[in-house]
Amino acid sequence: MIVIMSREATDEQIDRVAAHIREEGLVPHVSRGVERTIIGVIGAAIGDEVRSRLEAMAGVERVVRVNKPYKFTARRAPDETTQVRVNGTTIGGSAVVVMAGPCSVENREQLMTTARGVYQAGAVILRGGAFKPRTSPYSFQGLGREALELLLEAKRETGLPIISEIMDTADLDLMMDYVDILQIGARNMQNFALLRAVGQVRKPVMLKRGPACTIEELLNSAEYICAGGNHEVLLCERGIRTFETETRFTLDVSAVPVLKQLTHLPVIVDPSHAAGKRAYVKALALAAVAAGADGLIVEVHPNPEKALSDGAQSLTIPEFQDMMEAVRRVAAAVGREVATPHALALR
Ligand code: PEP
Ligand code: MN
Repeated sequence: MIVIMSREATDEQIDRVAAHIREEGLVPHVSRGVERTIIGVIGAAIGDEVRSRLEAMAGVERVVRVNKPYKFTARRAPDETTQVRVNGTTIGGSAVVVMAGPCSVENREQLMTTARGVYQAGAVILRGGAFKPRTSPYSFQGLGREALELLLEAKRETGLPIISEIMDTADLDLMMDYVDILQIGARNMQNFALLRAVGQVRKPVMLKRGPACTIEELLNSAEYICAGGNHEVLLCERGIRTFETETRFTLDVSAVPVLKQLTHLPVIVDPSHAAGKRAYVKALALAAVAAGADGLIVEVHPNPEKALSDGAQSLTIPEFQDMMEAVRRVAAAVGREVATPHALALR
């Protein structure tokens, strides 16, 4: 069960509700968000009387039964959706939000060329890895702080907010100064220390699904972040491991409608890591939009053959432009539009 406090609820009212939950022999889990506080009530078989008593308390908006292990992430009403706002762009609204950029930030020229290209093609958020999770310790590991500086430079020029992956809790303070969305990579989906840490900050988080993780495991991982009080979580389907070897992973398109039913959080699809080959990226992106995804995150490189990571799946800038045109047509066919770049507020 969860207790949704009204937006105007005072700290005293919240404390009183938590104390009352304890008196009922249950455990309150208070999650203070920017907009409102939600209190999870943990305990066996909670009766209707308990619910009525809580509902009558000052500051309580409503009490909802949630029969799922993930209390904060579960959809509580058919029309409930969380909208995450990033520099004037709304994720989780009627418009499809496209994030694009290189797998890794490699140097100024590569990043600036890509940022300008994806901006002109209609991307609204710039991606770029600074800390890279690589299978081999001998592969390029990312430029770290230098990459973050370059991303900021690209943001100043294009106005595009930044999404970049955090791999280590020790980098959280640094990342907070540079990025607009913290990305948790597929390999870290169940890094609970990292999930707890990003639950403590007030910055949107995009959580990528582990390639061998179920949808329920993904939602439980998101629950760690929301339970910490950070309710701005985006979920990302990026392909799962199956017996198929033609593609790098298998894009689980079903995850889109399933997640839309189970949770109020926005759903993003990464066709690049699922495909592993650029020839399939556009088709998967279109399938994701048709299936109801709130957004896409796509790898783009000005010269994929020379890329230091994930070149095979990176689109060239003209290929990305072509994909965007098709995305607009498919979005229109399913009654959606594609988010357009916000005014260059930072220019
Ligand atoms: C990435 O976005 O470059 C990345 C490493 O993705 P994933 O965590 O999905 O493998
Ligand atoms: Mn990549």
